[in-house]
Amino acid sequence: MQEKQSHISNETWEKLLVQLVYVQANSPYYQRLFKEVGFDTHQANAFTFLNLPLTHKKNLATSNDDFIAVESQDIIEYVTTSGTLGNPVTFALNESDLQRLAINEEQSFNLVGVDKKDVVQITTTLDKRFIAGLAYFLGLRKIGAGIIRVGAGSPALQWDSIQRFKPTYLVVVPSFLIQLAKYAEANEIDIHKSSIKGAICIGEALRDENNQFNTLGKKIKSLWDLELFSTYASTEMCTAFTECKEHLGLHVPENLIFTEILDEDGEEVKPGEVGELVVTTLGVETMPLVRYATGDLVKKMKTSCDCGKGSALISSVLGRKQQLIKYKGTSIYPQQIVQLMMELPEIEEYQIQVTSNELDTDKLTIVIPKEASESLQHKLKEILKANLRVTPVLELLPLAEIKASIFPEGSRKPVRFLDLRKA
Ligand SMILES: [Zn+2]
Repeated sequence: MQEKQSHISNETWEKLLVQLVYVQANSPYYQRLFKEVGFDTHQANAFTFLNLPLTHKKNLATSNDDFIAVESQDIIEYVTTSGTLGNPVTFALNESDLQRLAINEEQSFNLVGVDKKDVVQITTTLDKRFIAGLAYFLGLRKIGAGIIRVGAGSPALQWDSIQRFKPTYLVVVPSFLIQLAKYAEANEIDIHKSSIKGAICIGEALRDENNQFNTLGKKIKSLWDLELFSTYASTEMCTAFTECKEHLGLHVPENLIFTEILDEDGEEVKPGEVGELVVTTLGVETMPLVRYATGDLVKKMKTSCDCGKGSALISSVLGRKQQLIKYKGTSIYPQQIVQLMMELPEIEEYQIQVTSNELDTDKLTIVIPKEASESLQHKLKEILKANLRVTPVLELLPLAEIKASIFPEGSRKPVRFLDLRKA
């Protein structure tokens, strides 16, 4: 039990306690929870803190308003989570939270090496109730760099902006870089002569659990040799984790967030092991979270960073805890299959489906267009078998039918993974 508190230093505990005192005084949700479990900041220590129940996404969804710890008149920004798994949750920020966000992104850009002389093109959404684009904007304002707010989509406008304003960095969803490269090729733009030096990549992982480029990362590098910086962030955490120029993992901004990486039994994993990221936000006023289970699986990295910044490093997100598939005795994440499918771009669309079979174990199916040739199907089976060690069932359906299932009306993201398992 002593071991459990040993990874919290006195300095960290002091920062945590400040946040816990604030939360106990202001957050209706945590006031109730602390009372229920007999936790009181007057007598708390690192050990009692590490025994607090985790907060889950479903708590946020069912008690959304109880998480708000400021007067409504002080709220400035209203945003929602992306709602990949169920209904989106509301998040709100006050002036102090927006400033905290700016500090976070200023630190992130410092890690990347962006300074006042740089011009950064933001190719991600700045509105639509998203927080990320705004956060980048605020961070760049603090640095004093030039900013081009193109927003999402429109390769033509992106390239026009690159040629017109000569940005040095892009803030971008990595798969969009592929689209940009293809547009350039089709329109006789020499990407190798562009002003872009690097890309701050959001929303998709570029590296695998060994910190090597995954299929997406390799594909981008083969088309366009940019310096790629991985990041990891979420609306709930109100915090972004960013890779520095050493590319050894994502730096944890320890002044803004306390992180735990927990195994199935709720114990901190060892360096080199994978577990669920659990966070306690520091300095968040409007919707502070205490021991929030992100559902994201990350690896605790072994090395401290060569850049000398001193903070802990975590891997990119390797999968979602809820999406883990147990298939024929093997653990598989949909993300692994998504990566493998990129090796066969000839397969125009696909959907990964998981259902419960008669024995209540998982049945894994990949639906592909029936237009796919037999040799292509064979190739896919070989790739899956070689990389997953098991072969999912292939189901052949008309392309139009698959498309309808991937892009249902009202969905903000394509449904690449359909989870039909019994709850
Ligand atoms: Zn570093």
